[in-house]
Amino acid sequence: MASHINAKQGTPSTSRATSVHIVAEPGVQPLSAGGEVGDLESSMHSLSIAEEHRPDSPDKEDTNDLRNTVHSLWKWHSQPTLRFGMQGGDFMLSANILLSGNNYRKVALLFKFMAMGMVSVSTFFRIQDAYCIEPVQEYWDKTRAEVLESLRQKDRVVVLGDGRMDSPGHCAQFCTYTTIEQDSRDIVHIVSVDKRETNRNSVIMEKECFIRTMEALLPELAIKEVVTDAHPQSSALLNPERGKYKAWGIQHSLDIWHAAKSLSKKLRRVGTVKNQTIIQAWIKDIVNHFWYCSKHAVTEEQFKMMWVGVLHHVRDEHSWATGCCQHEPLEEGSQEKP
Ligand SMILES: [Zn+2]
Repeated sequence: MASHINAKQGTPSTSRATSVHIVAEPGVQPLSAGGEVGDLESSMHSLSIAEEHRPDSPDKEDTNDLRNTVHSLWKWHSQPTLRFGMQGGDFMLSANILLSGNNYRKVALLFKFMAMGMVSVSTFFRIQDAYCIEPVQEYWDKTRAEVLESLRQKDRVVVLGDGRMDSPGHCAQFCTYTTIEQDSRDIVHIVSVDKRETNRNSVIMEKECFIRTMEALLPELAIKEVVTDAHPQSSALLNPERGKYKAWGIQHSLDIWHAAKSLSKKLRRVGTVKNQTIIQAWIKDIVNHFWYCSKHAVTEEQFKMMWVGVLHHVRDEHSWATGCCQHEPLEEGSQEKP
């Protein structure tokens, strides 16, 4: 819209007037408007100085065509103009919303609150498709190749994987499964599955992602251990006796982060029941104790011994028949919890 020049009628008193209009065009499309108007409209302001010719005698018919003829003398933009008239700021904004992992709607809302011009949604997606997707893909391929190259030196690689749905519950459309390497925390693989690829069954999307990840990584790296959440399908695939990948001799470990998250969720649910709300004050401590046990216990037996201590501790009982708390003696009056 920056190229658009406003042809306004001059004052009727002058027979031949050369009027100069300075037109400030915000070019902002209201966010609520359904249709996106125009092509690459500017998000910033542009000023046009136009020369308007007015006919000598307004009654002459042949001058009617000239009535709205406007010549642009010069035009000012608050941002550099790129090829095809695209505004540099629109391009930068669109590319950087994507590259900074942001969301168009949220940034647009911020701009709206600040009464600033904003690139339209259609321009945003056009710029993303035309200029961003391919370079990002190329950069990722190059980075991933370098990461795998360095990991090939290792003879024991531990990877951690987890899937993320585009929406919670069983109605998700997409699942993205990301796998990182334990020591470097580098992402070694990303795979996305569309529900249509799993016969519209969103429950097996994570399994499908996991299989694709393993198929891609096993021939490349010496994977000896895989850490996942307690997803039964991943556990079945990695089962050392019956699993699909039993021949690879992979150790399957569960991610404590998921277990701690699920523990606190369960405690919160229990805490909502009448006469049990007292538990709420303890949730943080119980989850911390779970982390502590997971970190310090070497065997399952040891873990259980430490874990059971929480039941004694909450009753202000810090040593019992089979063990005792690991903490320092508690100060008088420091037990403020019920
Ligand atoms: Zn204690």
